[in-house]
Amino acid sequence: MSKQFQFKLVLLGESAVGKSSLVLRFVKDQFDDYRESTIGGPSFVSLVSYLGADSREAAFLTQTVTLEDQTTVKFEIWDTAGQERYKSLAPMYYRNANCAVVVYDITQSTSLEKAKSWIRELQRQADPNIVIALCGNKLDLASRRQVSQEEAKKYADEEGLMWGETSAKSGEGVADIFTSIAKKLPLT
Ligand code: GDP
Ligand code: MG
Repeated sequence: MSKQFQFKLVLLGESAVGKSSLVLRFVKDQFDDYRESTIGGPSFVSLVSYLGADSREAAFLTQTVTLEDQTTVKFEIWDTAGQERYKSLAPMYYRNANCAVVVYDITQSTSLEKAKSWIRELQRQADPNIVIALCGNKLDLASRRQVSQEEAKKYADEEGLMWGETSAKSGEGVADIFTSIAKKLPLT
């Protein structure tokens, strides 16, 4: 019988880099150009204070990757509900995460700086065995590129992270990132 594993994966990164779009592409193979950012505005802030801290945890989606040896890895994927825009996310969000995809937008160099600060936070606070992938999204907009592949790859190598570029819009590289993570996880 083939083996099955389940892992918690969290998405991190600056607002609007395409975290929710990557999840939508990976889980449903869809892209929506006109999607509103997940949630926004004062109504959300008041909703959070009304509902209390626990409700700030986003719901998760699942998707399964099958490796060559028929091992299946089921990802429980936690996307933020847009809270990254207002304040740092509670460590509760990434606690118990087995893996993290930290996303930047290749057309916004400031988003790489934000990604680095998320990575530092994970290195300080998350499970020491967490598998982290740095992901440069919006590869379809490469003509407006501000972050070179060399710069991002060099940083990822120095920090011992996986790295890849994706386009949630075209789908390029999206499955690859998740499959690479699946292969790095402890499948025993
Ligand atoms: P989040 O705030 O990080 O979850 O980002 P969203 O997924 O809400 O995406 C923010 C905006 O970027 C939306 O208008 C998306 O349609 C757009 N977007 C996301 N991924 C891509 C991509 O790969 N290419 C392009 N061209 N636009 C993207
Ligand atoms: Mg989002």
